[in-house]
Amino acid sequence: MPRQEISTLGEFGLIDRISKRFEKQLPSTIYGIGDDAAVIDAGNEYILMSTDMLIEGPHFNLQYVPLKHLGYKAVAVNVSDIAAMNGRPEQITISLGLSNRFSVEAIDELYEGIKAACKNFNVDLVGGDTTSSPSGLVIAINIIGRVAKDKVVYRNGAKLNDIICVTGDVGAAYMGLQVLEREREVFLANPEMQPDIEKYEYLVGRQLKPEARMDIIYDLDELKIVPTAMIDVSDGIASELLHISTQSGVGVKIFEDKLPIDSQTYETAVEMNLDPVTCALNGGEDYELLFTITPSDHEKLKNHPDIHFVGHIHSDPSQNQLITKQGNVFGLKAQGWQHF
Ligand code: ADP
Ligand code: MG
Repeated sequence: MPRQEISTLGEFGLIDRISKRFEKQLPSTIYGIGDDAAVIDAGNEYILMSTDMLIEGPHFNLQYVPLKHLGYKAVAVNVSDIAAMNGRPEQITISLGLSNRFSVEAIDELYEGIKAACKNFNVDLVGGDTTSSPSGLVIAINIIGRVAKDKVVYRNGAKLNDIICVTGDVGAAYMGLQVLEREREVFLANPEMQPDIEKYEYLVGRQLKPEARMDIIYDLDELKIVPTAMIDVSDGIASELLHISTQSGVGVKIFEDKLPIDSQTYETAVEMNLDPVTCALNGGEDYELLFTITPSDHEKLKNHPDIHFVGHIHSDPSQNQLITKQGNVFGLKAQGWQHF
């Protein structure tokens, strides 16, 4: 048999292939592979379960990522997946792969960030695993959360005419990474140079210290709104919109002038000769929430200061469009992160 490279499938193709080999065996498995978290019947409620792994190299560079921030981020990105199901996080376990490059003090620092996140998101660390790793640091977190059975939100529930909402702003974390990478190169070329990141504080903060939007989940609950579909923005909103389109069997239409882009994101993109809209659509690591609501819920949300209405759902899943300020129509493509 000739060898097949993983890059011929890509990340999502590979997950699809794995998923097809497994049939569910237990009635308590309500939803398996394919959403932000798995959904498990726990009697009166559903348990949500998800996992995310961060690896030194592809996910972070310790030359500019403080371990404390890394610990916080590792927890936050897992909480974000529970939020994306409209659930509340409860417990995490943490598995570490460590090399002798790391001191006890370094691990203390990592866990200081983990502790801050546990406190902030009200989750308990209840276990894990510790092992050696040949060189880099690996952090794998499992999280469980809970949601009422009639409140769980999947990627597949978007309906014709639903309104597409995005929280916060998008593209900033990506621009923060560009700033950090640029400063690293300047520093490597000339170690005398002091990093010039003060001006980019917001962007760098968005890259190093992302927040899971649990606040939005509590707000929606208070307003008695259950989104029709939801996903968190880890790979960029273009990619996440396409997940909602494919899984819901509908098309999305978004408007360039409605995209929430912070002025620092915009200006820094222009300064670096990047297109701000492309950065906002494909940047990733924003950990904002992207969701759809039924049109009658718009009234209740329209004055929310941190929820933006960027477009709507139509019936044709093959037409996923961005309408530019000039009224031109572009097909949405998922660039996202290429792991392979
Ligand atoms: P997210 O970006 O929300 O963390 P992913 O894109 O990583 O989600 O994963 C999409 C779905 O595929 C999830 O349901 C996840 O649990 C599942 N998945 C990812 N990798 C694997 C794997 N190696 N084996 C089984 N399921 C996987
Ligand atoms: Mg997710």
